[in-house]
Amino acid sequence: MPKIDEYIPIVGQAVIDDLKLIADRLKGKLMQHVNSTAMGGGVAEILNRMLPLFNELGINTRWDVIKGGAQFFEVTKKFHNALHGKRVDFTQGDMDMFLETGRKNLEEVEIRGDAVFIHDPQPVTLVEKRGDNKWVWRCHIDISSPDRDIWKFLKDFVLRYDAAIFSAPSFSQNMSMRQFLISPSIDPLSDKNKELPAELIDSVLEKYGIVRNKPIITQISRFDRLKDPLGVLEAYKQVKKRIDCQLILAGGGATDDPEGVQVLEEVKERAGKDEDIHILLLPQNDIEINALQRGSDVILQKSLREGFGLTVTEALWKAKPVVASCVGGIPLQVKNKFSGLLCHSVEGAAFAIKQFLNSPQYAKKMGENGREHIRNNFLITRHLRDYMLVFISLQHNEDIVYL
Ligand code: UDP
Repeated sequence: MPKIDEYIPIVGQAVIDDLKLIADRLKGKLMQHVNSTAMGGGVAEILNRMLPLFNELGINTRWDVIKGGAQFFEVTKKFHNALHGKRVDFTQGDMDMFLETGRKNLEEVEIRGDAVFIHDPQPVTLVEKRGDNKWVWRCHIDISSPDRDIWKFLKDFVLRYDAAIFSAPSFSQNMSMRQFLISPSIDPLSDKNKELPAELIDSVLEKYGIVRNKPIITQISRFDRLKDPLGVLEAYKQVKKRIDCQLILAGGGATDDPEGVQVLEEVKERAGKDEDIHILLLPQNDIEINALQRGSDVILQKSLREGFGLTVTEALWKAKPVVASCVGGIPLQVKNKFSGLLCHSVEGAAFAIKQFLNSPQYAKKMGENGREHIRNNFLITRHLRDYMLVFISLQHNEDIVYL
């Protein structure tokens, strides 16, 4: 793991000095994070990188993962879909399963943090354990237009927290508690994002039978309907009519996402026999994901809903031209026609991809702007700072905090 000073060449000395100064205010305190998966998806990705850095800065930090069976994760996936606005029918059995697993975790998860950050809905009921420490509900998902019933059910728990954190302004809710806006981040020194030698990129492409003499369009995402993999195939097919190109759809599963297998089957079926479509299963292979992103000509993220879209951050940091849906946290990253192109439909996505493939200079400029936008706003150093400031602000019951 890199040391905090290794970030100086990337973000500058002042940013790191600032972090050390803020961390001094929290010496001896314990920060605790709880989520529902140790692997897969954006939350685990970020926590993995943040913990060692917090500890190096002198803030004791621990990370616990709640336990749940397959049925529990089926129910929480339904929650996830309903919070994203999808019509979902819940049975009394679903709710009982959610509460029952919550009760078991109350016994299993040890809570010791001076500040406890609970990530997403799965562990929300742990708040039953609150004492005189501070509790924060950290919501990573797009709840701009949730199913009202399920949000009401969760809100009863959320209201018992001291504060909530959302990734984009449109996700905040009408609640009496304090709410913070904190965007996620990426680690520029992780295997997923560090610079790679050209030969390594070539060898990964070769390994998967991807050729260099045709443009490569790539979407990296879990096989999830909300990532719209079928829309990606459709957009690719429209581009393919004009420009001979290849598509990479790469994704693995997260342990808390049971729908993946079914979606993958649908995608394979729809892809048919086109040899320029590469459907890759790459669970937890960060170097290969990095290489695929770097080897691509256009990165696509055609989500229907998106909490933030770390894949967009990762692509922009690699100075790649990005075409992404104007949903959730994506427009915070892709400023249309400045750091990428936003789309609202399959046709829009296909049009934008063609624009990039036909104008390499324009595509290059968008990528370069994107990289600077990420450097200034979405790297892990900014994220560490924000969490520390929330922690400090919760120690003092001030109403206004300037982050
Ligand atoms: N990811 C990965 N392998 C995959 C699919 C995704 O490593 O097969 C990573 C991806 O690079 C990103 C994260 O998982 O870092 C996904 O985060 P994002 O915010 O894009 O979506 P989420 O899965 O959290 O909805």
